[in-house]
Amino acid sequence: MKANAGNLNRIFKGLAASHGQVAGPVFVFRKKGREQVPGYKIDATQIESEITRLENAFELTHSQIHSLSAELRRRVDGPEASIFEGHAMILEDPAVLNKCRDKITDDLCNAELAVYQVSSEYAAVFEGMEDEYLRERANDIYDIGHRLIHNLLGTNEPLVGPSAKPSIIVADELSPSETIAFPRHLILGFVTDRGSTTSHASLLSRALGIPAVVGIGNLSEIASNGEMLLLDGTSGQVILNPTDIEIKSFNQTLESSRTFNASLGGLRHKQGLTRDGAHIPLIANVDSNTAMSELYAVGAEGVGLYRTEYLWLSMKREPTEDEQLEAYTKVVRALPPNQEITIRVLDLGGDKIMGSGVDFGHIEANPFLGNRSIRYLLRNRDIFKRQVRAILRASSHGSLQIVYPMISVLEELIEANAVVDECKDELRGEGVLFDENVKRGVMIEVPSAALIADALAQESDFFSLGTNDLIQYTLAVDRLNGTVARLYQPAHPAVLRLIDMTIVAGHEHGSRIAVCGETAADPVMAVLMYGMGVDEFSMTPQSIPVVKKVFSSIDRSDALKLAEDVRNFYNRPAGEIYQYCRQRLSEIVPDVPF
Ligand code: PEP
Ligand code: MG
Repeated sequence: MKANAGNLNRIFKGLAASHGQVAGPVFVFRKKGREQVPGYKIDATQIESEITRLENAFELTHSQIHSLSAELRRRVDGPEASIFEGHAMILEDPAVLNKCRDKITDDLCNAELAVYQVSSEYAAVFEGMEDEYLRERANDIYDIGHRLIHNLLGTNEPLVGPSAKPSIIVADELSPSETIAFPRHLILGFVTDRGSTTSHASLLSRALGIPAVVGIGNLSEIASNGEMLLLDGTSGQVILNPTDIEIKSFNQTLESSRTFNASLGGLRHKQGLTRDGAHIPLIANVDSNTAMSELYAVGAEGVGLYRTEYLWLSMKREPTEDEQLEAYTKVVRALPPNQEITIRVLDLGGDKIMGSGVDFGHIEANPFLGNRSIRYLLRNRDIFKRQVRAILRASSHGSLQIVYPMISVLEELIEANAVVDECKDELRGEGVLFDENVKRGVMIEVPSAALIADALAQESDFFSLGTNDLIQYTLAVDRLNGTVARLYQPAHPAVLRLIDMTIVAGHEHGSRIAVCGETAADPVMAVLMYGMGVDEFSMTPQSIPVVKKVFSSIDRSDALKLAEDVRNFYNRPAGEIYQYCRQRLSEIVPDVPF
């Protein structure tokens, strides 16, 4: 082992992008610099042949992206599988090819330079955007630009990765194509100097189950091939050239994770129950890309959130009423008769605009506070009605309920209910079957909704706490922005107080309370919220076994006591509250690596 040069250059803290711990040798992945793009003047007589070269490269790139996309679909389910479809869309946009053609014709430059300049211009527009998610899309454009240039040059040599020994890839940044191109059996993990947890490379690592830490600083400049690295994708810590003591402690963490994961298998087909037998339904968040078999594999007890916007995003347009009916019926029918599905009406806007085919009019300066979800639907009644009619028609095939996203004022709920009533009248008039008793719920994801929960409860049947947005809007922290990620605090007393208010108001009116934000998948938060009174938890299917295990290891009274104690800490910082809950839980359930 190398003598280490102090902890400063050995122990790094980044953003935990994909869970899991792994130890192994470093492989530093260095990209070829952009300066290698050859640029030269062409003669006017060469324009035509240069444009043909360009068009051929577009075609070749397109077919490569299609193969990558198919490869990805074989390896992962869920929205991540459509990443390369976004790339294909950029390539299919006639404006991109036309701009490159114009450069060749007007500037008399070679095709490589034209592609380089056009992709840099597009990428610069994204890089200048305030929204972190959109800024990340600049990398997608560079990715396509590089691929086009390599195809023009005929230098699409295979990407240089570890050739024999499985290694941890250390890079300044990784594109989605690079992330998927490394042979899976040679990759132990990824660490990148830049990037955020929402970059496509991070999403892909999670979908592929490869531990990853991003935004680490400058490890790729410091580390050398073959040096030993400990990567903890759960805590975000990375240690280069670890000491024997560090290796020992890392191995202990690894061992307890393994034992714990092995213990989950037996619970897969059991209900969510506390040790003393209280039933806590653990249900799934899904979208049109989710393989329903995943739900059986983890023992989900229904669907607590069906995000319908992915239908729009994958079709790149509004699906017709019949297409929606088919999609909703498919999921409703896939569930056993005793299970229910909650279908959320369209939640486009915010970060979910691009590629939906929906015209939002002008670009909004602040889309998260703009014409988003229910606001958009109430301004576009025809779209809203087509969706509600499809949902109601699907209700004749099984048990479903409707939930409205982003309700911030009472009038929205009243108007949305009126639209549902109108659709019911229409369907009755047409003699179309539907369930007359379909329940209507409200997503509580804006502080104002929590504060008027008593009024909302009178006009609805249930609440679903969308904590992803509730935290964002309560703390004024962009949920996608890595720079302010440390202020995004699920256990912030302001958030907990709003959850408390929602539960009290909902229960007073006999409404059930679900949580469908990411906090439901964090066992520490789930136990706390259960103690606060939440009735059911909806999460990504993969998280269900862990949460089930934790609930099965505590008594209901443990959770009630935890929530009661935490109410006395509402004057403390969020980090302390969270640590307190975590500590208490690890005393009750010592075998769970929180
Ligand atoms: C939420 O905000 O918690 C939620 C579940 O909705 P989404 O993540 O789709 O905005
Ligand atoms: Mg939301």
